[in-house]
Amino acid sequence: MPKPIRVLHVSAECYPAAKTGGLADVVGALPKYQQNSEVHSAVVIPKYDLPWINEQKWKEVYSGGVWMGYYDQPFKVFELEENTLGFPLFVTEIWGKFDRPGVYADQHGNFYGDEAERFITFQKAVLRWLQNSESHRPDILHCHDHHTGLIPFMVKHTPEFQNLGYLPTVFTIHNGRYHGSFGWNARYLLPHFDDYLGGLLEWEGVINPLAAAIKTCWKLTTVSRAYLEELRSDSNGLEWLLQHESFKSVGILNGIDTKVWDPENDPLLQTNLKKSIPYFKRENKNPLLETYNLEKGLPLIAFIGRFAIEKGADVLPDLVYRIFSQNYPLNMLILGSGDPPIQHGLNSMVPQFSGRFNTYIGYNEQLAHQIYAGADFLLMPSRVEPCGLNQMYALRYGTIPIVRRTGGLMDSVIDFGDPGGSGIMFNHVWTGDILHAISRAVELFANKKLFNKIVEHDMALDFSWDRSASEYQKIYKELAN
Ligand code: ADP
Repeated sequence: MPKPIRVLHVSAECYPAAKTGGLADVVGALPKYQQNSEVHSAVVIPKYDLPWINEQKWKEVYSGGVWMGYYDQPFKVFELEENTLGFPLFVTEIWGKFDRPGVYADQHGNFYGDEAERFITFQKAVLRWLQNSESHRPDILHCHDHHTGLIPFMVKHTPEFQNLGYLPTVFTIHNGRYHGSFGWNARYLLPHFDDYLGGLLEWEGVINPLAAAIKTCWKLTTVSRAYLEELRSDSNGLEWLLQHESFKSVGILNGIDTKVWDPENDPLLQTNLKKSIPYFKRENKNPLLETYNLEKGLPLIAFIGRFAIEKGADVLPDLVYRIFSQNYPLNMLILGSGDPPIQHGLNSMVPQFSGRFNTYIGYNEQLAHQIYAGADFLLMPSRVEPCGLNQMYALRYGTIPIVRRTGGLMDSVIDFGDPGGSGIMFNHVWTGDILHAISRAVELFANKKLFNKIVEHDMALDFSWDRSASEYQKIYKELAN
């Protein structure tokens, strides 16, 4: 029997060790589903001075150094002991670079400012370790976002690491807005390469790690098909490059952890799915209506998320005002935090529209679960959504998503006016368009037979990681053979 393909995920983040966003969730989940007879995945991230990392037991597996142009940078690699994550986790300890209490910024949100140097050191350290430690050397390097985007170039085109050049590289774009660019004056930090190869690193006059990865990786993936399409027409200047590299690109929708998000066993819910779906929905909706002083008999539309422009949260205050001043027959509950003017705008309307509208400002995991289970609809007016998780949680818990046609929302939701419909879709982050979608939701709620049919259909959809992992597995097999 052939040996499993060994994959090493190289990333700046991995849940639960270091997380600032969706990148960590993917790198902390995907490898769990890549442990079978055909694939074995492991992860390496920098060793930050973060609580989870500090609480674990680590075993040193390598000690070495890399040359950074005018100084030698020592580093160590550790492996997690007593590991219950479901995949091997390695961290690189790099003094002066990552022994800080934040991933990209300090406790006050100030960015560290030496990102390029830090992540070049990390990438070189990982490659030095793999060069010298045969037992840890994978068959495939899977790099994530711009922080690890120089690895495909380094292994292919720099004499220092070229003995790893036979390793196929997969590069995944989670967020294409950030490129990690830096000036040519920092070239001395990189391993030596011939001048004529500089074009592989450069985009618009600077070294652009995202562009370099897109040019030099063996296979390029994004976290949804529609996001890949969008990046080809809007990616901060990389549009043409992404069109050019289409032949090696593929969009793979992320999965959700169906063991955590399980309506039958979720311990954060008041009532689990044991009897019927209508009973499950009713018994989770009623406590929300009571707690948040909302009206019985009306549909409950919810929003969960960061109050940020990408999420379209800036339209919420105007939307709420128009919904309730025009007396739409519905309840609305908003859970989130972020931009202070949005927060203030929403909160200030709670007394005026009490009985139909309420907010919870802050992060509350349990409430999020209860809302996914108890709401009738979940609104996502996102401007940008590379994959998006909320819509998948909503579908799994029988809450019909009302989403803008963008990114991963387009890959996971189908308008109920189309075959296999699971939600309601609209085109623009514009109050008029959203109000029209909401009117359709109110009408759908009144049509109980159709409404229940869609809820039942939504709850049966498969958004598990198994599906995504098997798509990645296909790529690994293609490349390893
Ligand atoms: P992001 O761009 O914020 O990473 P995702 O859709 O990838 O968006 O993930 C958002 C996740 O954060 C979801 O699991 C959502 O339920 C959760 N979430 C966002 N805001 C809150 C909040 N205020 N309270 C609880 N959970 C939240």
